[in-house]
Amino acid sequence: MEAESAYIALGGNLGDPRQEITRGVEAITRLPRCELEICSSLYRSPPLTADGGQQPDYLNAVVRIRCSAPPAVLLGQLQGIEAAAGRSRSGPRWGPRILDLDLLLYGRVSQRESWLTLPHPEMMQRSFVLVPLLEIAPELPLPGEIRCKTALRPEMMKGCTLVAPPPWGGAHEKREAF
Ligand code: ADP
Ligand code: MG
Repeated sequence: MEAESAYIALGGNLGDPRQEITRGVEAITRLPRCELEICSSLYRSPPLTADGGQQPDYLNAVVRIRCSAPPAVLLGQLQGIEAAAGRSRSGPRWGPRILDLDLLLYGRVSQRESWLTLPHPEMMQRSFVLVPLLEIAPELPLPGEIRCKTALRPEMMKGCTLVAPPPWGGAHEKREAF
């Protein structure tokens, strides 16, 4: 299979989210048939709560990889990374989570299955996806054939603030790419 560019959103708001996201990026760098190309800055955003309940702010980032594993295989591997971080699937939708890895785009693949919808169905409404994506891929065509820089309306920028530019993984980390 030919390699495609794929975009992955990382987020979390439990434990030490910066460390969890750092480990999540490191785990992505170790996936077979995947190569990390670029990692965004680290951003902070308020939670989207379904019930108005309190939960901590999220940290978020987006990475681009080149991947020659099929999208379903990649999703399975991302869910394995979430599980290894201690992610429980029993909490409420939009509940706090230690590490969430969403597959935003996989080449030009378009499919709508409940277990894997591509492009990710909610990416166009989420400033914590579009702000980091704008940083690494401003010209990328998104669903509806609009470019990231056009999709991100000014009012969406407010909800998502810069925490640290790359490399934010920390000097102790083996890899300096992020
Ligand atoms: P969310 O990320 O929407 O808050 P979860 O991480 O709990 O919720 O994912 C719920 C389900 O969404 C997963 O079981 C997964 O199979 C499915 N899913 C569908 N499309 C995607 C996608 N593009 N990326 C990640 N998960 C997806
Ligand atoms: Mg998810």
